[in-house]
Amino acid sequence: MFKINENYLKLPGSYLFSDIGRKVNAYAAENPDKKIIRLGIGDVTQPLAPAIINALHDAVEEMGNAAYFHGYAPDLGYEFLRNAIADIDYKNRGCDISADEIFISDGAKSDSGNIQEIFSSDNKIAVCDPVYPVYVDTNVMAGRTGAYDTASETFQGMIYMPCTADNNFAPEIPRETPDIIYLCFPNNPTGAAITKRNLQDWVDYANQAGAVIIYDAAYEAYISETDIPHSIYECEGSRTCAIELRSFSKNAGFTGLRLGFTVVPRELKTGDVSLHSLWARRHGTKYNGAPYIVQRAGEAVYSDKGRQQLKGQVAYYMNNASYIYEGLKSAGYTVSGGVNAPYIWLKTPKGMTSWDFFDHLLHTANVVGTPGSGFGPNGEGYFRLTAFGSYENTVEAVDRIKAL
Ligand code: PLP
Repeated sequence: MFKINENYLKLPGSYLFSDIGRKVNAYAAENPDKKIIRLGIGDVTQPLAPAIINALHDAVEEMGNAAYFHGYAPDLGYEFLRNAIADIDYKNRGCDISADEIFISDGAKSDSGNIQEIFSSDNKIAVCDPVYPVYVDTNVMAGRTGAYDTASETFQGMIYMPCTADNNFAPEIPRETPDIIYLCFPNNPTGAAITKRNLQDWVDYANQAGAVIIYDAAYEAYISETDIPHSIYECEGSRTCAIELRSFSKNAGFTGLRLGFTVVPRELKTGDVSLHSLWARRHGTKYNGAPYIVQRAGEAVYSDKGRQQLKGQVAYYMNNASYIYEGLKSAGYTVSGGVNAPYIWLKTPKGMTSWDFFDHLLHTANVVGTPGSGFGPNGEGYFRLTAFGSYENTVEAVDRIKAL
């Protein structure tokens, strides 16, 4: 008789965005005349930049020509893309990362979910609270936690690092020593960023504790302030303690194309065993490579034209972010984020719960956001709005909220 992975049964309810989708669909079905504006899920809305479209067209032509056809991609990614990443994302920023430490994938969600496979099941995990739920759920599935406690809305055995207004939404070093620390900056969902000095403290701590930091930098393109690091490898000593995850989704609009990468420095070891070789083994065994045409599109992200066009796209979203931030602030809301990230994190008014405010906004302003409590207990009483909508919809949504 087969047995299931019972760890899956520890996971409460469905995925946050399924719950939101269900509520919004039910409201839309009952109110077909209403124009609902969605500033909930972190999906982009601007079309792919011309440099990327051109690269896709060229690569598609190649695939139709026997002389240039490409079959299986190399497991770890094409050299042309890994070299571009190593040069522009890392060497140009003074980070010592080489192309052979970069593993191309279909995005940061799979990498952030899969990376835990190379670690022992008895590792102690630390996550921010609130948090991008994938880090937690994938460790639950792998059996690294106890049961879910409905009263505290946390999993037993997991270390939660509260990120609240009191600490400026920056996690503090936990009292209990973790083995694996997930950090995401600029942060989803709070939109908070970390200074280089504070990130250096985490790197120093991880090296001293023998812990690994899994650093999710999916939103680095949105950094606007100078003392905010774009990569954890800007910190000294990070090569011995940090894995970095990156995505093409938010900086280049690849949410539907799918492309990302993980960096595992060769010095990151436990005893004689390098995590680089374990991740290479895992990637080579379970993954057959991102499509050639998508990797060519990824290469175009690093071309002069691509970089210039994408700067404009990021600026477009950040203009939305500042419209939301300023608009809600002037209406008396307590807001943060939106400066180095496309997310605005706002305190719900009058002590409403996150879900009450979700319902209130949906029903009165026909605006969809994301309840902060869906990201962890310390998200309760908060609400996330994204800057990824069109400018026109963003303006209309903010004006509707202001008019409430
Ligand atoms: N990491 C964070 C923090 C995210 O917010 C998201 C998507 O919203 C991802 C990773 C997923 O990125 P990708 O589209 O590359 O899978």
